[in-house]
Amino acid sequence: MKKIVVFTGAGVSADSGIATFRDSDGLWANYRIEDVCTPEALEFNRSTVIEFYNKRRRELLEKRVNPAHTAIASLERAYEVEVITQNIDDLHERAGSTRITHLHGELSKLRSMRDAERIYPIAGWGEAVKAVEQGEDVDRYASVWQEAVEAKDEHGDLLRPHVVFFGESVPNYDAACRIASTADIFIVCGTSLAVYPAAALVFSIRKDIPVYLVDLARPDLSRIDNPVHFIQKRAAEGLPEL
Ligand code: NAD
Repeated sequence: MKKIVVFTGAGVSADSGIATFRDSDGLWANYRIEDVCTPEALEFNRSTVIEFYNKRRRELLEKRVNPAHTAIASLERAYEVEVITQNIDDLHERAGSTRITHLHGELSKLRSMRDAERIYPIAGWGEAVKAVEQGEDVDRYASVWQEAVEAKDEHGDLLRPHVVFFGESVPNYDAACRIASTADIFIVCGTSLAVYPAAALVFSIRKDIPVYLVDLARPDLSRIDNPVHFIQKRAAEGLPEL
């Protein structure tokens, strides 16, 4: 069975109504990135960072998978598929993809400030997703993770969003490169290939395999020798077509 590796970025979830930040003047949901996505912000402005990610969780609860996520999940009917995503949302999981590597972390998890290996799923997240999908009020569930984020773990250590901030290393990068190197077909969707080291993942693929690229804009591919098929469309349109 051929193996497809799908590498996704914020553009895949843009069609679910989650803003990319490169397409909105470097602002993410009206925040400056350096105020909410850096280790310094977490150290000196913890409450703003915590509040920012709680808002992103609340927003994510209200969002639904789009045909791009669904198309990727449906590839598993005929191929071995691995998804590598820069997104911190859980829309690939909700669409049914089963093998997902998150390069930049996950909104639905927290981790210890002291030990990055200690990662905790937010209690009640899955139930909240289901309940809201069935029409329950989002606000009823917003307090669940508010309490979780302010708690300490069983070692007495403060928790933080399980998200890779700018300036931090990407723990899953080597594993993702190994996965990319095993692809027979490589699909890239909704990423500017401008956020390193994630963008360098494309240099791990075998040189003879086809690359399919779905994006509204053409990223710089000048350093890739592979044959590239570019579909210049929205993810929700281009991926089902592919
Ligand atoms: P990015 O640099 O990968 O750029 C977004 C890309 O998506 C661009 O190439 C743009 O042309 C493309 N795009 C926009 N709308 C599209 C659509 N409807 N269909 C197809 N392509 C579309 O990503 P970024 O926004 O600069 O974010 C950088 C990092 O910030 C991410 O890697 C992630 O860690 C985090 N982030 C995550 C989310 C999320 O989890 N959904 C959203 C925003 C930012």
